[in-house]
Amino acid sequence: MDFLLRDGRRRSFSIANAPHDDEFLDLHIRHIEGGRFTGEVFEEIKEKAVLRIQGPLGSFFLREDSPRPVIFMAGGTGFAPVKGIIEHALARGLTQPMHLYWGARAREDLYMHELALRWSEVHEHIRYTPVLSAPAPADNWQGRTGYVHEAIIADYADLSGYDVYASGPPAMVYAGRDAFVTRGLDLEHYFSDAFEFSGD
Ligand SMILES: Cc1cc2nc3c(=O)[nH]c(=O)nc-3n(C[C@H](O)[C@H](O)[C@H](O)COP(=O)(O)OP(=O)(O)OC[C@H]3O[C@@H](n4cnc5c(N)ncnc54)[C@H](O)[C@@H]3O)c2cc1C
Repeated sequence: MDFLLRDGRRRSFSIANAPHDDEFLDLHIRHIEGGRFTGEVFEEIKEKAVLRIQGPLGSFFLREDSPRPVIFMAGGTGFAPVKGIIEHALARGLTQPMHLYWGARAREDLYMHELALRWSEVHEHIRYTPVLSAPAPADNWQGRTGYVHEAIIADYADLSGYDVYASGPPAMVYAGRDAFVTRGLDLEHYFSDAFEFSGD
């Protein structure tokens, strides 16, 4: 969805809740240093402020009629739409294998790590692999490190039968696309939500 700001400016954010859980719109908003809109959100906007929005927009939704196993690649707040999609898949009772990779810099950036862990513990068909690119020493991180798309190609030699959903920084989305094609992914089965900066 887009926030419609003064002077015709817009800022896009991905909806993090599933359609059945529709009392509120959940957004996961990263505070951009010097960002006009996210600066206002974190520093100025008061509860009950009235904002203008437009939506739903975009094409990043679950292809429910596909029986293929699914890989999700989320980077940072790119977890937002993936969360909505996984909760939707659970609500619909879909049981094909789903493997969530969540890439972030440090442990604190995996802001819903426990939720993702719980999915993988409770549901046999869901796996969760967090990947940190720059863990802090205090993280004492024992898990995977490096770029999240590289972790996926290290684990999956053949992606030809998969649906892959990628969401987050454009560099990750495009690096993933290029890498996954070399592993046989059909681009018709690559769905992405690239968090391009809005500019004005
Ligand atoms: C389809 C779509 C979905 C999106 N969903 C989300 C979401 O769910 N959660 C979320 O946090 N963001 C999301 N974004 C990204 C978000 O819209 C931008 O980060 C937005 O520009 C932030 O607005 P701002 O006014 O605070 O910063 P701006 O005023 O737009 O930017 C200020 C400065 O920061 C730079 N900048 C802006 N965004 C980023 C960034 N993400 N990383 C690094 N530098 C940046 C700009 O180049 C500029 O120099 C999405 C973008 C798109 C296109």
